[in-house]
Amino acid sequence: MRCEVCGREIFGQPYYRVIEGGRMTVCGGCAQFSNQEWDPRKPKAQPMRRRSAASTRPRRRSDIEVAEATELVENYGELIRKTRQRKGMTVEDFAKKLSEKESVIKNFEKEQLNPTMTLIRKVQRELGITLIEEAEVGTGAVLTRPMGPRTLGDMLKLKTKEEDEEEG
Ligand SMILES: [Zn+2]
Repeated sequence: MRCEVCGREIFGQPYYRVIEGGRMTVCGGCAQFSNQEWDPRKPKAQPMRRRSAASTRPRRRSDIEVAEATELVENYGELIRKTRQRKGMTVEDFAKKLSEKESVIKNFEKEQLNPTMTLIRKVQRELGITLIEEAEVGTGAVLTRPMGPRTLGDMLKLKTKEEDEEEG
C-alpha cells in the first residue's frame, strides 16, 4: 500500500487522515498534515451529486386540481339526484352507466365528494346537465385567472355560452 499523499510505500499500519476535505490513507509522515481521522470501516459517503440530481419536473395539473379550481353549481347534488330520478334511474343504474361505484354517486349527490373532472364530465353528459360554472373546461385559460380582465376572446366565449343556455 502506498501513501496517497507522498506516494511512498507504507510499512505497517497506515494512517487514515482527512486532508483538504479528502479521505487519505497516508504514511506516518504525512499523517502529521492533519489530525482529522476517518474510519475505514464505514462505507464511503455517497456522492452528493446523485441526490441533488433528482429531477424536479413541473407537475402537470391533475383532474382533481382542475376540479378544485372549478366551481360546481349551487345545489349540484340535488340537481344530479332529481335529473337522475326524472330519467327513471336508481343510483345503482346510474353508477353502472358511468362505471362508477354506487358510493361515489351517493356521495356526489350528497355533495360529500371532491369529484374528478372526469366524473363531472361523465355525469354531465349522461344527464344532459351543467354542473360547473365553466361550460367547457377544455383550455383552462379562463380558470387560471378567473378574476383577471376579460379578453375579447373570453367575452365571445361568454356570449356563446349565454346563447346556448337560452336555447336549452
Ligand atoms: Zn506520505
